[in-house]
Amino acid sequence: MNNPVIDLATHLESLLTLVEKPARYLGGELGAIYKDDSKVSLYVCLAFPDLYEVGMSHLGLQLLYELINLNPRMWAERAFLPQSDMEALLRREKLPLFSLETKRALSDFDVVGFSLQYELCATGVVAMLDLGRIPIFSKERSKSNPLVIAGGPLAYQPEPFADFIDAFLIGDAEELLPEFLEVVQKAKAQGNEREDLLKEAAKLSGVYVPSFHKPHLTDNRSEIIHKDKASLPIKRRVLSSLAGAVFPRRPIVPNMQVVHDRLSVEIMRGCLRGCRFCQAGYIYRPQRERPVNEVVKLAEEGLSSSGYEEISLLSLSSADYSGILPLLKRLKKGCAATQDVTISFPSIRVDALREDLLNCAKTAKRAGFTIAPEAGTQRLRNVINKGLSEEQILGGCRRIFEMGWSRLKLYFMIGLPTETDEDLAGIVDLIVKIRSLSGPRRDLSCTISTFVPKPHTPFQWCEQIGEEEIVRRQQLLLGELKNLRVKLRFHDPFSTVIEGVLARGDRRASAVIKRAFELGCRLDAWPDKLQPELWRQAMSEAGLCPHAALKARPLESKLPWEHISTGISKDFLLNEWQRAQTEVTTKDCISGPCSGCQVCVPGALTNLRSPADPTPPAPQLETLQHNAVLLSQQPTPLQNLRLRYQKKGLARFHAHLDLAKIFFRAAKRARLPIAYSNGFNPQPRFSFGPPLQLGIESSFEFVDIALVKALNPKSVLEALNPELPDGICVLEAEELTPGSASIQASLKDQSYEAVLLPQHQTKHALIVTPPQDTSWRTKRILRVRKNKTSEMLWEEALSDFSMKPQRLQFSVRCSPDQPALKPFEVISAATGLDPALFNIHKSNVSWRT
Ligand code: SF4
Repeated sequence: MNNPVIDLATHLESLLTLVEKPARYLGGELGAIYKDDSKVSLYVCLAFPDLYEVGMSHLGLQLLYELINLNPRMWAERAFLPQSDMEALLRREKLPLFSLETKRALSDFDVVGFSLQYELCATGVVAMLDLGRIPIFSKERSKSNPLVIAGGPLAYQPEPFADFIDAFLIGDAEELLPEFLEVVQKAKAQGNEREDLLKEAAKLSGVYVPSFHKPHLTDNRSEIIHKDKASLPIKRRVLSSLAGAVFPRRPIVPNMQVVHDRLSVEIMRGCLRGCRFCQAGYIYRPQRERPVNEVVKLAEEGLSSSGYEEISLLSLSSADYSGILPLLKRLKKGCAATQDVTISFPSIRVDALREDLLNCAKTAKRAGFTIAPEAGTQRLRNVINKGLSEEQILGGCRRIFEMGWSRLKLYFMIGLPTETDEDLAGIVDLIVKIRSLSGPRRDLSCTISTFVPKPHTPFQWCEQIGEEEIVRRQQLLLGELKNLRVKLRFHDPFSTVIEGVLARGDRRASAVIKRAFELGCRLDAWPDKLQPELWRQAMSEAGLCPHAALKARPLESKLPWEHISTGISKDFLLNEWQRAQTEVTTKDCISGPCSGCQVCVPGALTNLRSPADPTPPAPQLETLQHNAVLLSQQPTPLQNLRLRYQKKGLARFHAHLDLAKIFFRAAKRARLPIAYSNGFNPQPRFSFGPPLQLGIESSFEFVDIALVKALNPKSVLEALNPELPDGICVLEAEELTPGSASIQASLKDQSYEAVLLPQHQTKHALIVTPPQDTSWRTKRILRVRKNKTSEMLWEEALSDFSMKPQRLQFSVRCSPDQPALKPFEVISAATGLDPALFNIHKSNVSWRT
């Protein structure tokens, strides 16, 4: 392992001023792990081929981070696909993609491990390898390059990625990853050749090394055959129980808004409902529940170490968790103590919405509810084995509205096997009925995606509808639903085609991915980034016809993923496919008998329910409802404090809105008695001064906080500082007298100093303004706000201004009525130079008397 290749001070910092959301690249979050290099012998970079805010919302990434870092001799860091602005800058400055923790190039790690979650991240994998200075093809790597590995749901269908990845790890990481990394560590210590290391690793059950197997490919055949002695199929590794399994107890808390900005606790892995379209329902069998006591403990630890406001109980079907009610009651009881935590479960079946469950799920924040009927007619719901009747769907919706939820989100799919226009009309009918239950004032939204047949499911042989047909069916629904005041969201038709092509592709698909990357495709899961024309070109140049790729596969054909075994028998999947065509449902094996998928292994692996809850009696429902009331009846604040804090170093790149959360969570972790606003959505009573532009340092930032218990201001400062990220520090805390004016109303001037960065000083000389020259006062400055341009006199906006060689000093006037002039505006107007060329800091403030 070499020293960091990036000198952060001279390179990265100057780039951060030029990109959107620089917090994506900072690292140093609460929970991030730093180790002593002298004690580490294996360096792993966990690579997520999407933006930071997506990757950091993924519990699996945090789990892997914990799993590896538990070993004192191994160090896992993180890297994410940069946004296009940062990618362009890295290429322009000839800098490699780096890890967040130490800012090391990806090429400098021993192992780079990709988390493959969805097909539309494919170009991100190649882009990260390329930006990280790792040869993109496995066959081009040598001993000096990192070992590139991958896991996650797409590893169960590895062929489209086979040319890029050295080894796939199939199954539960807790079972396989530590063993695998031990093999790598040993090989590194012995100086083994790459080939020998891979041979050793391939001996582990669950490891697939694509270079040891060669595909036999024809139009109708895609069979993986042995090239070496390694045996096929590769059997997935399965963790038999979640009890006592590794879990991130002190999660990394991002310092910026991420997609799922909350604590996630996995309560159960696997789902036995058997929806025939759902890959997760097959590749994660059997169903294993984490014991209630453990979930409660993880939730308490996670909340107290993070300060999160929301806890999400993760599973594929939360209501199937046998201890869901006791769990919710215990969590609500714990949450009532802190009075500001929302409990959510992202996936709950509508037939499970019993009143007692809804009562427990009810929180002070009446967040929206999501249900997924998937199909509009009973016939089609039987085909997909959804196991929901219209009565259950409407009954669930009625209960949701009666219990006070004002927002409902529905999920449907089009293009399901055997679907006709009558089934589409069924979607419209169902939405009309739900709309009549909701009344016009409730917020109803509907996401309609297109079915993609996924490997290892009973629908893996099905045809996928093509782009034209997707558009026709979307238009049909759009025409029928446009007057219903339902917010409709359709997935882009061509993104579904790409997903389908890659989902069932063979090794030839890697040429498409590589070409799409070369043409500039990135972040294809983001609608504003998807470039269908480039993907069309890539498919065409790689000789792949999307129409042919989406066709049905003959039942007798060899499928490109048949060398990977989930444990479910092919006969079971075939039988389910035949039952689907005859509209026969299969009962789940929780409430019904075993249906013979063959995942369970007698004596070794089976469905595991949470043990009976041995805890003291849970509070009565009435008490729980009362707790929700308590949340909206906060005590009156007893004390208001004004804190002066600094933003220094990399912390100057934290956005103003993110700072509010950083402070709030720090105050929660510090156990400060925070006062909240009243209402259904109580917010901490924190009031910040005017926003500071990103990239400016300051020791004169202010926030007023209200507490429900009077404390010594110094003790508040001392409690808060250890909980704040590096570079943010409270310098002063003073008690405000009742009726004190807000920060915004009290500020008179804010003073700044801007100094040209040394590397730009010879190129740009700044003119010295003689002190007696006051002509600037009568000049006008242009202001551009929200695309509107206005003019104002400098004298009105500035109370002081001077320009010396390489240096500007000025004070902007503050007014409670209109936003002050921004430092960047002053610098651009005064010098004609890009403010990014300056080191700027706020040097003082003055107050109205
Ligand atoms: S083997 Fe039987 S009990 Fe086990 S998951 Fe499959 S269907 Fe259910």
